[in-house]
Amino acid sequence: MKKQFAVIGLGGFGEAVAVELMRLGHEVLGVDSDPDKANHLADKLTQTVIANATDEDALAELDLHRFDAVLVAIGAHIEASILCTMMVKSQEAKEVWVKAITPTHHKIVEKLGADRVLHPEYEMGLRVAQSLAHPNMLDYIGLGDNYFVIEIRPGEVLEDRPLSDLRIDDFEVRLLAIKHGQSVSLSPDPEQRLRRNDHLVLVGEEQALRRFSASL
Ligand code: ADP
Repeated sequence: MKKQFAVIGLGGFGEAVAVELMRLGHEVLGVDSDPDKANHLADKLTQTVIANATDEDALAELDLHRFDAVLVAIGAHIEASILCTMMVKSQEAKEVWVKAITPTHHKIVEKLGADRVLHPEYEMGLRVAQSLAHPNMLDYIGLGDNYFVIEIRPGEVLEDRPLSDLRIDDFEVRLLAIKHGQSVSLSPDPEQRLRRNDHLVLVGEEQALRRFSASL
């Protein structure tokens, strides 16, 4: 279903989010006080507006309550981000996500009622560190309580061997799926043979997942 989003602040992060939402088939209003930033995206977003997002009247004209979610992506300008978040909340936007750059910034926008506070550089940093440390891990989701879902690329030595050879059950991890390109097979048969470029999607505790990955 087509949704409507507003992205306030079209720096590197805001632009990436806005353009990807368009690619996913949604409608996006982009707002930036810098005419160059807004004009640069004029053809790529549903609508762009040049406005100072700390100006109450300018913000009121955007009718932000009609959007499914509003992302405040004014990063470096903490004061503007805080003021804008406060006003977006007072316009009763349904869902407000805010990019924060310091712990204090995070705390303040959380107190103001942000539904989700993002730290893209920090979160990306963690992902890059994980990828550098575990080159066969392609992606992961933290579930909390030290449990993770991970997607890994097993080495080529496993090609054409049945899944049962991996002895997954010995490691207290569960195999959720095998991905091959765009196709996914859930709860695969233990006798299924691994093909080149198959990825394993597993769930388990971090240490157990590490032990299993190291055994491949
Ligand atoms: P990034 O790291 O994503 O590039 P920046 O903090 O550099 O983040 O970019 C934030 C964007 O927010 C910039 O394009 C800037 O012009 C815009 N911006 C800053 N202050 C305001 C404001 N008061 N109103 C609207 N847009 C703003």
